Amino acid sequence: MPIIKILDSDTINKIAAGEVIERPAAVVKELVENAIDAKASAVTIEIKDGGISFVRITDNGLGIASDDIELAFERHSTSKISSVEDLMTVKSLGFRGEALSSIASVAQVELITKTHDSLLGTRFCIEGGEGKGIEEIGCPEGTTFIVRNLFFNTPVRRKFLKSAQTEAGYVNAVVEKMAAAHPEISFKFINNGQLKVHTSGNSNLKDIIYTLYGRDITHNLLHIEGSSGNIKIDGYIGKPVISRGNRNYEIYFINGRSIKSPLIARAIEEAYKGYTMQHRYPFVVFQLYIEPGLIDVNVHPTKMEVRFTNPEELYYFIYNTIRDALSGKNLIQQVSIGKEEAEKEPHNTAPKFKAPEPFEMKRIENMVNEVIPPYKTEIKEQVREHTKENIKSDISQTSLFDSEEFVKGNTTVNFRIIGQLFLTYWIIECDNSMYIIDQHAAHEKVLFEKTMKKIKNKIPNSQMISPPIILSLNMNQENILNKYLDIFIQAGYEIEPFGGREYQVSAVPADLPGVADTNLLIEIIDELAENDKASDSEIILNKVASLSCKAAVKGNNRLSFMEATSLIEQLMNLDNPFNCPHGRPTIISMSKYEIEKKFKRIV
Ligand code: ADP
Ligand code: MG
Repeated sequence: MPIIKILDSDTINKIAAGEVIERPAAVVKELVENAIDAKASAVTIEIKDGGISFVRITDNGLGIASDDIELAFERHSTSKISSVEDLMTVKSLGFRGEALSSIASVAQVELITKTHDSLLGTRFCIEGGEGKGIEEIGCPEGTTFIVRNLFFNTPVRRKFLKSAQTEAGYVNAVVEKMAAAHPEISFKFINNGQLKVHTSGNSNLKDIIYTLYGRDITHNLLHIEGSSGNIKIDGYIGKPVISRGNRNYEIYFINGRSIKSPLIARAIEEAYKGYTMQHRYPFVVFQLYIEPGLIDVNVHPTKMEVRFTNPEELYYFIYNTIRDALSGKNLIQQVSIGKEEAEKEPHNTAPKFKAPEPFEMKRIENMVNEVIPPYKTEIKEQVREHTKENIKSDISQTSLFDSEEFVKGNTTVNFRIIGQLFLTYWIIECDNSMYIIDQHAAHEKVLFEKTMKKIKNKIPNSQMISPPIILSLNMNQENILNKYLDIFIQAGYEIEPFGGREYQVSAVPADLPGVADTNLLIEIIDELAENDKASDSEIILNKVASLSCKAAVKGNNRLSFMEATSLIEQLMNLDNPFNCPHGRPTIISMSKYEIEKKFKRIV
């Protein structure tokens, strides 16, 4: 019995829809692309319920002639190309003629449109691929699409959608990309009746970046521009100081089309190597103009991928353009001292502990008295000796110390500081072992434990900051902030809405230098967005606290001998000083036995 048959057109459309339309954001992308292709200068996108129940896209473009309407919803119907040769020169965003048929097969669609030369407009409804009637209607020039109840007839697909809020975030991201790709078009995005994005359409990319990403980013941009052969580039790249926690801000377009390209991403990230730390990603927004014949955009149904005829040329062109821009400016001057230190890590070799000049002895004495409590006379003596000796000569510090016993609260920990290694590690002797402590990890651990203790015991842990910090967030970040607001508050932050998508931070967790920093907060929010899976508030709280502590260490990297002494003491008194909250060890150790074995004193 024959088992092979040709699928009916409804089934074909639904399968195609699965490739092109997987969520409301895809509907928005396709319909906005159509508006752009129709030469609109203003596009309004309105959604409700994350776009699942309602999407309305209105443009002031060319409109669709009434005789063309039903045809437009057929599969592979397009006004943009007529033969395969046209693909070599296609300048429009669409050309596969799939979007309208795909959307109409999985939703209830209403279209209202009017061209310039017709007196009346037309209204057409189509549900699950079935036309529901066409009529004349009075309306302005341009096109409005209303898409209701996405996946109403494919419930399985609907189940794969995320929460309305998350879907709205995806739509927002699409709109932001479209707006950045087309500064000449005014975009308006309304979510549940609230205006979220409004760009002026004045063709100025920097204005768009300001509208979408706020003041801090806009103030730290470098303009890039250049051409090579058939490629042109134009846009902005962020100075390293505004690098981000994820790749969401690596935004680039080819001929007005937002795409994803591992090749381009690599060129960007390689160019920033040495300027940003590991696991930090640059902020870039730029446009590439490439002869349509030199690229193939017809690789993927959603046209997110592009193939290049000369990938190597493109790679080096982007790499060199960004590299030149970065090296041509004095970036470091713009950054505060603490930040600069953090940015340069781990290559930073500037001495963190410098032997004091003889005339500084008085100051050291004062600091010794300030930092170390009076009853810890032994430590004081140690520090004095250490610094004096450093002034006199550079002789080995090991001879300076004698075994001491320090009494701290109820615990007694025997330790002796041998000295500092590579300006970062402290070698100490404790009981019958040698320990090497990473001062940054230790600092982080101590701050973290202190902060968590205060939070757990509900000890007030906020410190007012003046002036307050104003955060300008995008919609995704805003969602994350609101989702975890309670946890931020618990951790010691005070955050209030400040109109639009701006938030005022008037207090930060106490005793954490460096946390009152706009970038840090954005970084924490981005980090939470990146791993927005953990639902356990305890885990999130830990994360917020640990990121805050990490920043405190970054922002306050210099450790004097005295600070280190007090730090080591605090660390050694923790229940578990050996593990840092983020998996990095704070301490490594080697027992006397192991050392003696290594020297073959014992066999
Ligand atoms: P494609 O964009 O690949 O041509 P679509 O299915 O997205 O295919 O659209 C089919 C056709 O409908 C387009 O080629 C265009 O002629 C017409 N069309 C769709 N949306 C609009 C719009 N907003 N304004 C004017 N024409 C439109
Ligand atoms: Mg299209």
